[in-house]
Amino acid sequence: MIEIEQFPCLSDNFGVLVHDEKNGRTVSIDAPEAAAIETALSRRGWHLTDILVTHKHFDHIDGLAPLKDAYGCAIAGPKAEAEAIGMLDEELVEGDVYKAGSLAFSVIETPGHTLGQINFHCPQANALFAGDTLFSLGCGRLFEGSAADMFASLEKLKALPPQTHLYCGHEYTKANADFALSVDPGNDALKLRADQVLVLRAEGMPTLPVTLEREFAANPFLRTSDPAIRAGLGMEDADDVAVFAELRARKDRF
Ligand code: ZN
Ligand code: FE
Repeated sequence: MIEIEQFPCLSDNFGVLVHDEKNGRTVSIDAPEAAAIETALSRRGWHLTDILVTHKHFDHIDGLAPLKDAYGCAIAGPKAEAEAIGMLDEELVEGDVYKAGSLAFSVIETPGHTLGQINFHCPQANALFAGDTLFSLGCGRLFEGSAADMFASLEKLKALPPQTHLYCGHEYTKANADFALSVDPGNDALKLRADQVLVLRAEGMPTLPVTLEREFAANPFLRTSDPAIRAGLGMEDADDVAVFAELRARKDRF
């Protein structure tokens, strides 16, 4: 049986553990905070065997050294950021498959937020681990890549099975919903999701995971071809990258 444990870390990061009971493997997606990850591991009675790193930012790698010390786990992450991250036992590129017991994590390079960012698709867990590339109702800020880079990265994620569960690096959904409603106010799927997010947050519950299908229907950054969004921006005839760039720029100022 495959189980996923998601929990809050730092101020608004998610920790995520993927556990393969049969093979006794437990994979942490990123290492935002060693103490929170150790607490989650002991709550479940799991032993950490692997860490998969999405990118080099502090809030995704801060726990690597203490977790390596405590568990002797293997650490794998993007080859393009190996130097910045340090501590990688295995360097991953597009198309690699990282195996942990019966779990297989396909590596998808998604430049944009950082140039070396990678995401992991795990079919056995029916999950995409999108780091800071795709958030619910939003996407990562363009710290290093161009709008064209990020648009192409999101196109790769759009090709995954719609029933895939999206896990990501941060609980940003409420702020993302406010922005999404400002550019796509007539979208019923978005309004439904925004209402659900309010209820979940009021109860102190996480808004992730969510299916990609729901994101395809509600996330404006995945909907650059939508006529209503384009009309609202006055960009009916622009290309998709230009629409995406305008959405990203408006979100930065929102
Ligand atoms: Zn980041
Ligand atoms: Fe982050």
